[in-house]
Amino acid sequence: MNPTPAVSSPAPGTPTPVYKRVLLKLSGEFLEGRRGFGIDPLTVQEVAEQVRDVHQLGVQLALVVGGGNIVRGAEASAAGMDRASADYMGMLATVINSLALQNAIEQLGVATRVVSAIEMRQVAEPFIPRRAVRHLEKGRVVIFAAGTGSPFFTTDSTAALRACEIKADVLLKATKVDGVYTADPTKDATARRYSHVTYQQVLEQSLNVMDASAIALCKDNHLPIIVFDLLTKGNIYRVVTGESIGTLVSATPPTAAACAS
Ligand code: UDP
Repeated sequence: MNPTPAVSSPAPGTPTPVYKRVLLKLSGEFLEGRRGFGIDPLTVQEVAEQVRDVHQLGVQLALVVGGGNIVRGAEASAAGMDRASADYMGMLATVINSLALQNAIEQLGVATRVVSAIEMRQVAEPFIPRRAVRHLEKGRVVIFAAGTGSPFFTTDSTAALRACEIKADVLLKATKVDGVYTADPTKDATARRYSHVTYQQVLEQSLNVMDASAIALCKDNHLPIIVFDLLTKGNIYRVVTGESIGTLVSATPPTAAACAS
C-alpha cells in the first residue's frame, strides 16, 4: 500500500537543506485551484510534486491541510448551525483533503502516513506523537488530519501545535500571496511586503499571518514561521534550501531592510 520506504540519502550534487524537519501548512482553499470549490486534482498533484521534490532532499516533512474548501465552522455557524458541530464537520473536511494529498504524494512514490486527531482507524492512524516522529525519522511524509481534534480551533493553530510537538525547525505557511504585507495588496496599491516581522508586530498590528493563538504558540516556543506563495512552482524547495523568499516571522526585531517591495 505504501510505495517506497524512507528516503535514504539525497543524490550527489543535491543542495543541502537548511532545515532538517519542517511542518508545511496549506489552506484547504488552496486545493480548490481554479474550480472555486472542492478539490482540484491538478492542483493537488502540483502540491504533491513540490512535496516530493523537498522529500528528495532528505528533509523530514509533515503537512497540515485546512478544510476551508469544504466546510469552515465559523461560516456554517453564522448560517445557524451549532458551532461545535460545525467545527467537527470542518475537522472531517481536513481528513478528506489529507486523503487526497496522501493519494497524490504516494502516486509519486513517496511513503506517507495520515495521522488523525479524531480516531477513524480505517482511514488514518490515531495521533501518537512519538509514533509520528518515528515516521518522520523513517522518511515518511506525515499528514496531520482532523485539526487538533477540538472545536473552536483552526488548522493554523493545529499547525503551530503539531510543529511544536514534533520539534520542527520551522513552520512554513503556504498561501496564495508572496508574504506578509503592510496592508491588503489587492486593495491598497501602497502596500509593501515585509521580508521580516516579529511575532509581537504580527500580534500588535493584527497582520494577516495566522490566528493569534497560533502566533502566540510559535512565539512562546521560538518557532520561526515563513509565509510564502505556493502558487509559484518550486517555492517549498526554495524556502527549504535557504533562498530568501516570502516573509520570515521570528523574535528578533526587523532590520532596516524589513520592507521588501
Ligand atoms: N477546526 C476545528 N478545530 C481544529 C481545526 C479545525 O474545529 O483544531 C475546524 C474549524 O471549523 C475550521 C475548519 O475545521 O474552520 C477547517 O479548518 P480551517 O478553517 O483552519 O481551514 P483553512 O482555512 O486552512 O482551509
